[in-house]
Order: sequence, then structure tokens, then C-alpha cells
Amino acid sequence: MPTPLNKQAMVDMALANGLDLVGVANIERFAGAPERMHPASIMPNCRSVIVVARRIVRGNWRGIEEGTYWPTYTYYGYHGLLNSFFIPVGTYETSCFIEDHGYEAVPYYPGVPETQPPDGTLRPGAVAPNVHLAIRIAGVAAGVGEMGWSKVFLTKKFGPRVRLAAILTDAEIEPDPLIPMGTLCDRCMACVGGCQAHAIPHQREGQVVRIQIEDQTFEWGDVHMGRCTLGFHGGDPRVSPFLHKTLPGWEFDVTKQDVTEDAAYKICWPPTFAAWRRTEEDPSGLLVEGHNEIMRWGGGAGAGSYAIEGSRGCMRSCFDHQERRGMCEQTFHGGPFIRRPRWILPCRCGEESDEA
Ligand code: SF4
Repeated sequence: MPTPLNKQAMVDMALANGLDLVGVANIERFAGAPERMHPASIMPNCRSVIVVARRIVRGNWRGIEEGTYWPTYTYYGYHGLLNSFFIPVGTYETSCFIEDHGYEAVPYYPGVPETQPPDGTLRPGAVAPNVHLAIRIAGVAAGVGEMGWSKVFLTKKFGPRVRLAAILTDAEIEPDPLIPMGTLCDRCMACVGGCQAHAIPHQREGQVVRIQIEDQTFEWGDVHMGRCTLGFHGGDPRVSPFLHKTLPGWEFDVTKQDVTEDAAYKICWPPTFAAWRRTEEDPSGLLVEGHNEIMRWGGGAGAGSYAIEGSRGCMRSCFDHQERRGMCEQTFHGGPFIRRPRWILPCRCGEESDEA
């Protein structure tokens, strides 16, 4: 006979299994969500959405910030182990705990709504596969944090240094209070200045995304996802020394591009995953050897994704600002994260930069 589910015991189970933050939204908070992004489209009798976060260790970015070492961020802090192992273990154990109490639990790996295929429905009355939650909006709905101006999710303890996942369940669990807009993001615009891809609009440009949850409105900058993706996934010579090594003479200014997110993936991913022919000029045969190495770091199939730019503005500039202002609960003995003039490379590959 299942025993009643105690919320604090469930949270303790999540924390004991490596998760750092836990919040709960009732299903009513998703009233404004599109059907194909709605938790009830995965689990029709879903009553609660538990959103969990695990921190991204600040030191994951140290090598990229110094311009000396890349693999740690992808391997430990992005898709390698954090998204694919550290978080799923806690999410799965917590799901087992919920089911031990007689409620169904769907552990949810955060997918990307932009990848939904243009397919029809499989069952009359159902929505088409694949359903993906907007995981950051789910995090807002569960009171775990707030959407920063940069569209990156902010938390009180770690600022933007978190990744999210969720558990859907038919258990009725007391929801956590929403965190009002403006509690964690002070609209400093450090993310705008730090983003070399010019993907984040300045507040004065008035490009805003707005949603409503219960009686509260939340808004953030309408980020240019094409330029964001080009920067993040290795399409920007200004933040990829690997492009400079592989393609000297090539010039590409990301700030002038107006491609979609999907088009940006098509520009970035094939050169990372594919091979050409082995030559003296290019003995590995890999199109961009450095990007491929980071993607494969750790052996086997590798991370399946990779990060080259390492969130220069939306994360690094943001948490540096937040730590300096005492806005993050987690502090560091060594002082601010950004300690030296920041490096940036020219758009033209093979040229050295004297810019700070
Ligand atoms: S840097 Fe962070 S706190 Fe400042 S506006 Fe951007 S998201 Fe908000």
C-alpha cells in the first residue's frame, strides 16, 4: 500500500541525489502554454510539474575565460556530463521516490521546442509528437528562479549558473511561490555588452517577449537565436581559435548575419561532425578539428553537442556582474570571475588581435 507523498521528503531525496534546487508548479500555471509545449500533452492527468536545477560549476568556464582550455565546459558543464548524467540521476531517483508513493512520475529531459518536426498527430485529439516544454518558463512557473533579460534562467543562489530538468506527476503537490520579475535581474545590460555576437537586444530597443503566469507578467529580451547559435556552436571566429587554425584567410562577421536558429545550426554543426579528406594541410581530415575534439571529449560517442563560445555575455558577464553586486548567494574567496582584460579575436581567421 503506497504511503502519502510528503513534499519535503521528496525535495530531500532530490537534494540527496545531487540536485541543487527544486520547485513545484501546479498544472494550472501552464494555462497559457501552447499545446505542443504543455506538460499535459505528455501526461494528460499531470497535476504538478517539479522543476529541478543543478549548478554549473563556475570553474567550468575558467579555461575559456582565460583563452587557454575548452573541454571542461562542454564535458562537465554542458551536454557531456551535466545534462546527460549528473542531472538525470537525481531526476530519475526522485521519480522513483514519487512512484514508491503510488504516483506516476515522468522524468523529463529538457528538449528544444524549436526541433519539433512538422508531423501530424498519431491519435485523434492528441497533439503531434514531439512535445517539448519550454524548460526555463517551467522553471519560472515552479518558482525556481526568474528569466533574465538575456533569456537565461537566473537563480538566487547561483545566478545564471544552472541547468534545468523536470518531473511531471499526477500527485497534487503544494506549488512554490512565483518569484516576481525584477527580483534577480536588475536590467544592468552586462549580458548585452558581453555578447560578441550581438544576439541580445538592448532594453532601449524595445524587443521584448512577454508571458503571463497567474496574475504576474514576465518579460525578457527577444534574443536573436540565429546569432546566438552561431556564436555558441563555433560559427564565430571572434571566439573560436579553432576556426583560425583551420580556416586562415576566411572572414565571417556574425554580428551582420540574420539567419534563423535552424540555419545557424546547419552552418555550425556539419563542420564539427563531418570529415573531408586527409591532406598535408589537414592531416586529421576533420573539417574543424578543434570543434570535433571538444564534441568527442570523454571518449565513446562524445557529448553529442559542444560549446565553443561558452556563453560569454549571457552567463559569464551576467554572473560576474551579479557576484560583484552581491546578488548571488554563492560567493568565492578569490573575488570576481573576470579578473583580466577579456580576449577577443578578429573576424578574419589567421590574424592576431591586439584587442582586449
Ligand atoms: S547581465 Fe544578467 S542581471 Fe544583467 S540584464 Fe543581463 S540577465 Fe539581467
